[in-house]
Amino acid sequence: MAEFRAPLNVFHHSRDSAGLKYVYPVVSRRAQGLSIGINLNTNNACNWACSYCQVPGLVRGAAPMIDIPLLQLELQGFLNEVLEGDFMLQRVPEELRRLNDIAFSGNGEPTASPYFTEAVEVVLKEIALRTFNTPLKLVVISNGSFVAKASVQSALKRLASQRGELWFKLDRGSVAGRQIVNEVELSNELILERLNSAANVIPIWLQTCLFCEDGAPPSDDEKLAFLDLIAQALSNGTQLRGVMLYTLARPSLQPGAERLSSMSEEQIQTWAQPLREMGLAVHVNA
Ligand code: SF4
Repeated sequence: MAEFRAPLNVFHHSRDSAGLKYVYPVVSRRAQGLSIGINLNTNNACNWACSYCQVPGLVRGAAPMIDIPLLQLELQGFLNEVLEGDFMLQRVPEELRRLNDIAFSGNGEPTASPYFTEAVEVVLKEIALRTFNTPLKLVVISNGSFVAKASVQSALKRLASQRGELWFKLDRGSVAGRQIVNEVELSNELILERLNSAANVIPIWLQTCLFCEDGAPPSDDEKLAFLDLIAQALSNGTQLRGVMLYTLARPSLQPGAERLSSMSEEQIQTWAQPLREMGLAVHVNA
């Protein structure tokens, strides 16, 4: 097992901060505790290319082969360090010394990995062998591209049976907005289908990154398109746990990063309020 020396803080999100290949710790303000990340995209390849993405050297491409026995060894060792060793004492600020979740959140889209199902089984097996002081959440942070695939649906169902949830990336409500922010051509109909497919098998939260480009926040038309798309999903009967609105906590690592800046909490609340009026839970992280 690697040694863990430097204290972690909420700005330390490096995927190799534990010196492991697939498993990394993140101290999260949003989670108010420690999150154990599983990175199935060690080649920094994603099927999207979001302008705010924090992945260094991001490329378009397929997910790599995964050494599942190594992933399992890393998770075993890391869970043992967290639950029985002095990892929390050495590396985590006192007020955040609680294990909140295990999250499939890598340097690309986790459900794109052909090993996603096997990785899910590894996580379920390892948590079944241990006792946790506080209820542990299992999270998949996803752009939703593969949620309708049969193998992904089965894996998500398995996670849902163990308090799993999927955080579904929906950054903009218009086709043009998504083209700019996510560099994908994605119709509203396809988004609605994917949301419905996901919500049929696992509780979902929407996750939305709001930021200014050249100093300007998304336009009012873009906000209306976003609200309208969510209203359509709800009227289709798609169950949503809620919406997480957040802004740039750290600079983008993509070309053009200098044009992007954070939105203020006040600006984000103008998106949050109409969502609350639709009856949705909304978390704002500004
Ligand atoms: S979906 Fe996630 S990993 Fe992929 S480009 Fe967007 S932010 Fe980066």
